[in-house]
Amino acid sequence: MPTYKEALNINEKYAIDNNKEDSAIKRLLLHFSNMESSDLILSLSEEMPTELYDNFLYGVDRYITQNIPVQHIIGYEYFFGYKFIVNSEVLIPRFETEELVANVLEQYDNVFNGEPVKVVDIGTGSGCLAVTLSAEEQLMDVTATDISETALEVARANNENLGGRVKFFSGDLYEPLKDQKFDILVSNPPYIPNDEYVEGLVKDNEPHVALFGGKDGLDFYRKIIEGAESILNDKYIIAFEHAYDKAKELKKIINKNIKDVEIIQKKDMQGKDRMTFVIKK
Ligand code: GLN
Repeated sequence: MPTYKEALNINEKYAIDNNKEDSAIKRLLLHFSNMESSDLILSLSEEMPTELYDNFLYGVDRYITQNIPVQHIIGYEYFFGYKFIVNSEVLIPRFETEELVANVLEQYDNVFNGEPVKVVDIGTGSGCLAVTLSAEEQLMDVTATDISETALEVARANNENLGGRVKFFSGDLYEPLKDQKFDILVSNPPYIPNDEYVEGLVKDNEPHVALFGGKDGLDFYRKIIEGAESILNDKYIIAFEHAYDKAKELKKIINKNIKDVEIIQKKDMQGKDRMTFVIKK
C-alpha cells in the first residue's frame, strides 16, 4: 500500500490531469481516514491501511470520473465554521453566502443593537443562513421556509446538530407564514437565469429548484420584494444575495416597490456585486 503522502501526490496529480480541484483530494483523504489536517501531517510517511486506501480510491473515482461534488461524497460542507450536512436535495452552501451572514450580523448591530428580533429566511435549503444566524445571535428568533420538504429535512437536521432554534415551515415563499411579522428578512433565492450555461458538476448534482430563477434569474426577488412589507414590521432589514450582474436591476425593482428606504449594495471578497440590503429605520 502507498503511504499517505504517496496517495495524496498520485491522486492530486490525477485530479489536475482531469481538470478537477486537487484540494478535493485532501478533503477526501481526511474524511476517509477520519483525520484532521494536523494528524495527517504526522502520518504522511506511514503506509495506508488497505481498507482505508480502497475507500479513499472509491471516493476519488466518484469525484473524478463520476463528477460528483466532494461535499456529496463526504456528506457535509463547512459554513461559517459550522459543519452542515448536505445531499442532493439542497444547494451546497457557498463561501459568498458566509459574507451575507457576516453582513446581516453587522446590520443587525447597526439597526437593532441589543434588541430581540424576529428573522425570516425565505428558501432556506440546507438551513445555512437561518441556522447560522440562530446559533450566532441569541437575540434572533429565526423562522425559515422552503418549498421543498426534502430540503427541510436536511435543514431540520442541521438545526438540531448545530444547536439552532429555528422554526421551519414548508411552502412557497411567504405562503406558510400566515400573518406573522418579522424585523429581518434574509434570502439567497435561486438566481441563475433558466437558459444560462451551468457546469455539469452543479447542474447534474444540485437541485434545479435551488438554482434557477426564471428568464432573467430575478423572479424570486420580484415576488419577495412585492410582498415584503406585508410581513415586515415598520423598522426592518431585508438582506439578499444575488448574481454579480444583477445589482442595478435589483435596485430598480426595490425602488419601484418600496419607498423611503436606504439601499446598500456590497461586493463579495472576489470583488463581485453580491449583496443588497434594504433598510427602513
Ligand atoms: N439559503 C440557502 C443557501 O444560501 C439555499 C439557497 C438556494 O437554494 N438557492 O445556501
